[in-house]
Amino acid sequence: MVVLKRRFVSKELMVMRALHVRTVLTEKETFHYLNLERGLEGEIQFDLLVEGIGEEVYVLNDLLFEVNNSYFQIDSIIISQATVHLFDIKNYQGDCYYELDKLYGVSSKREYKNPIDQLKRSTTLFGQLLQNLGANFLVNPLLIFINPEFTLYQAPMNQPIILPTQVHRLINDLNSTPSKLNDGHKMLAQKLLSLHQTKNPFERIPEYSYDQLQKGIYCRKCKSFMLEVNGYSFVCRHCQEKEKVDSAILRMTKEFELLFPNDKISTNGIYDWCDWGKIGCNKVTISRVLKKNYQSIGTKTGTYYHSI
Ligand SMILES: [Zn+2]
Repeated sequence: MVVLKRRFVSKELMVMRALHVRTVLTEKETFHYLNLERGLEGEIQFDLLVEGIGEEVYVLNDLLFEVNNSYFQIDSIIISQATVHLFDIKNYQGDCYYELDKLYGVSSKREYKNPIDQLKRSTTLFGQLLQNLGANFLVNPLLIFINPEFTLYQAPMNQPIILPTQVHRLINDLNSTPSKLNDGHKMLAQKLLSLHQTKNPFERIPEYSYDQLQKGIYCRKCKSFMLEVNGYSFVCRHCQEKEKVDSAILRMTKEFELLFPNDKISTNGIYDWCDWGKIGCNKVTISRVLKKNYQSIGTKTGTYYHSI
């Protein structure tokens, strides 16, 4: 098993995490944010299982493609000797039921966007993509319900669904199917990687402005703003988590960069962002951290910093 593309926390989720701490999200936005967190958790669970595959396969995670102006995402692709496996991973919890090609929550009666339809759409588009590449591979799409606390009543047997009780068997099957990869597989993997789109049209980030957001440094563990300086560290009064002052400043600066990519990074800017005055520290510490981790541009009076 070789992972050719790792899974990262998406920019969308990183922004939502920051907004969740620094502003009050609406109910809908919170729902979306928690869905993103849950989705990633499920994908990481799946990745851990895939790591155990001993056969020669390529693993490519989180790919976004565009075919004929249509975008589609695939959570995991596993290229084995005979097959290209497409996995859509759902981390649903609780009880759902399937009726007339639709999926509903048992207690909420809420209708979910049919994940089988989504997978079918991705599979069709992926087929077109392979055709455009002149590649001829057998494609096996599967919808994985990864969470052991999920039950799907009336699950159709003729659909490409892997239920929580079948996930380990799926991995065992992959692991016991002999697989040797050649240059053709490698070329396909490289081609797929090169076609990955970095700008995600499915992103749903609420509008925000600097003034709306709460300033300050928050605990990396429990997200509370109740930090106090203790020597060279911050200590969280809520959960006792300790973090070096330099590390916290850098974390906050990276967050500022993420939320305001068009704004310049300066000592004064980060001083304000961290609400440093309230903590009662001087700007020298911020300036030192920025100098160490960023490239400085400009003169002493108007120094800005760029990512190295
Ligand atoms: Zn804490």
